[in-house]
Amino acid sequence: MLKFILSGWVLACLALPPLSWAQATAAPNTTVAASAPLQAPGEVTFCVDPDWPPFEQIDAQGQHVGIAADLLKLAAQRSGMNLRLVPTRDWDESIAASQAGRCQLMSFLNQTAKRDAWLIFTDPVLVDDNVVITREEHPFVSNLSALAGETLVLPKGTSVKERLQRDFLKLNIVEVDSEAQAFKMVSERQADMTFRSLIVAADTIKRQGWFNLKIAGQVPGYGNALRIGVLKSQPALRDRLNQGVASITPVELQAIINQHVAAVQMVTGVDYTLIGWLAALLGAVVLTSAYWIARLRKVNAKLKDLSHHDALTGLRNRTDFDDLYDHELQRSRRFEKALSVVLLDIDFFKRVNDELGHPAGDRVLQQVAQLLKDGARTIDHVIRWGGEEFLLLCPATDSEQALTLAERLLQTARTHDFGISRPVTLSAGVATLAPEDEAGHMFQSVDTALYQAKNSGRDRVVVFQPTECKPWL
Ligand code: GH3
Ligand code: MG
Ligand code: MG
Repeated sequence: MLKFILSGWVLACLALPPLSWAQATAAPNTTVAASAPLQAPGEVTFCVDPDWPPFEQIDAQGQHVGIAADLLKLAAQRSGMNLRLVPTRDWDESIAASQAGRCQLMSFLNQTAKRDAWLIFTDPVLVDDNVVITREEHPFVSNLSALAGETLVLPKGTSVKERLQRDFLKLNIVEVDSEAQAFKMVSERQADMTFRSLIVAADTIKRQGWFNLKIAGQVPGYGNALRIGVLKSQPALRDRLNQGVASITPVELQAIINQHVAAVQMVTGVDYTLIGWLAALLGAVVLTSAYWIARLRKVNAKLKDLSHHDALTGLRNRTDFDDLYDHELQRSRRFEKALSVVLLDIDFFKRVNDELGHPAGDRVLQQVAQLLKDGARTIDHVIRWGGEEFLLLCPATDSEQALTLAERLLQTARTHDFGISRPVTLSAGVATLAPEDEAGHMFQSVDTALYQAKNSGRDRVVVFQPTECKPWL
């Protein structure tokens, strides 16, 4: 049976695109890129499951140990955090302490709808599968919904219980105090099965010597994506910690898992065939986990990129413009340079849509975006501000220079062949902030200047003047 399961795993792993060599061998980052300090420096408190080996436990010396402990330590160290364990007797007490705000972090847990009520989560720290564990004589389990009336035992407070209860109504789910008790009940015929993480199952079966148990199947879609939970009120803490999580390489993750799994293999008087299979399964888990973590990171990076860029033109959108503007404002003050903005709007663009169709309008927008990208200087930021409006943020640029730049861009548009049977022109407003000026009205000023450009005939640049707007024809 194990052979069957193993071959499934191996096939699954072979079917996955391999981790790139660079990913798999990347040298560990020792520090996270410079980032703002935590808003509330000092100790960060955390709660754990005191009895969940080999993931984590509190040992006889009161120390948090295990795979999760090492991963949390690494992530915290790389985010410059000083952690303090809030000891508890069991997982329920940890949950209660977290809900009451007595610990800022929960070390290692799945994200669920219930937990979303008071926690936010980092990216996954480790991904592994849940497996069905039965006694030797139980048939292979390919579908939990076929098991009407069987008893499935789980330790208290697991996230998987919420999902199993919802998805498999005919299963009789019983909760017990601990992981070890769940396995014991299956081994001693008081329950038919348990459903646990593969890493935990392999460890517990070996450590406790329950060799009448076997891994009897997997349930698709029931993976564990274990994350660090952070109190909802502390998003900055989560973001900071996430940098530490992102810095953990697949190689480091594997080394940490191996370290805790290797210790288990030293148990004497055990069935080495079983150990061999379990070790192979664990190898597969580590590879799968590393693969999914790498993939999730890639998807997250892609999502972030998409949310910051406009799909039609590829230009940056307004999503994080405030941060960009603050950054350039500070730089302009530090280096005592003026900062300018140019707001450009396509003239009578609605007519292009109305008369030539929306797709033709889209193509014009794409071409204007390209002209602005090509025509702006490398130090300028080009942003799609809204429909047919574009904004240039021009560091170290006074109003004369901004005017020259804007006129050049208007001239380029004027002479460009857009492939439609009519010219396309732009109007632009310019506003400039001297290093000593208050930031306050920059955008109101540039709007006023653009309005003036439109009202005085379009296809022109107007520079905002504090007392009046001055057109440049
Ligand atoms: P003005 O010279 O005063 O700026 O006139 P206008 O026609 O350019 O301005 P108006 O605000 O009346 O119309 C802007 C049009 O831009 C209306 C809107 O449908 C169109 N638009 C906005 N976003 C998109 C887009 O992504 N694609 C296309 N094709 N059209 C868009
Ligand atoms: Mg317009
Ligand atoms: Mg407009």
